[in-house]
Amino acid sequence: MDFSVKTLVAGMVGTNCYILKDNSTDEGMVIDPGDNAKGILAYIEEAGIDVKLVVLTHGHFDHIGAVDELREKLKVPVAIHKDDADMLTDGKKNLSAFTGGGLVEGKPADILLNDGDNISFGKCTLRVISTPGHTKGGICLYGGGALFSGDTLFAGSIGRTDFPGGSLQELVEAIKNRLNTVADAAKVFPGHGPATNMGIERECNPYM
Ligand SMILES: [Zn+2]
Ligand SMILES: [Zn+2]
Repeated sequence: MDFSVKTLVAGMVGTNCYILKDNSTDEGMVIDPGDNAKGILAYIEEAGIDVKLVVLTHGHFDHIGAVDELREKLKVPVAIHKDDADMLTDGKKNLSAFTGGGLVEGKPADILLNDGDNISFGKCTLRVISTPGHTKGGICLYGGGALFSGDTLFAGSIGRTDFPGGSLQELVEAIKNRLNTVADAAKVFPGHGPATNMGIERECNPYM
């Protein structure tokens, strides 16, 4: 991979936050800061990462809880797919209103993403692949030998489709048709649970 990946598991449902660092420039980005802004910021400082932006794989509360604190402290823009953008500001849409764990309602996004957009930090580029089905605006990020799959694809499984905006048929189609350009060797970093790789998932994941 062209960059290093640090995984921090945070929050009440164990969401993976990924902190990426370009090996040649120290520039980096944060994917899905769901909680524990303090821990994320401490790691960024310790590792000497010049964070350029925060990107969200989708808008559920467990992936966005630390967004506003990071945006404020790091002075970086926050990006999310346009179809999930209203989840940042609406606790019912991001489901935090129903958890009893505190309402998550923050500021709107700075960057609205579309399928095919490129996200760059240092010399690294990740491509946005729209994969609706878990939520309408769910995305995967692919580049540098890695796929960040959010709650679209897990090791041996896929994301839930029983939340508002979810559709099992859409999700299975997105995984089959939209992720077909991802190399077998690509390492897969999901929104929950352990990392895997694309070849293993193609062979063993019953939804692929
Ligand atoms: Zn989710
Ligand atoms: Zn999640």
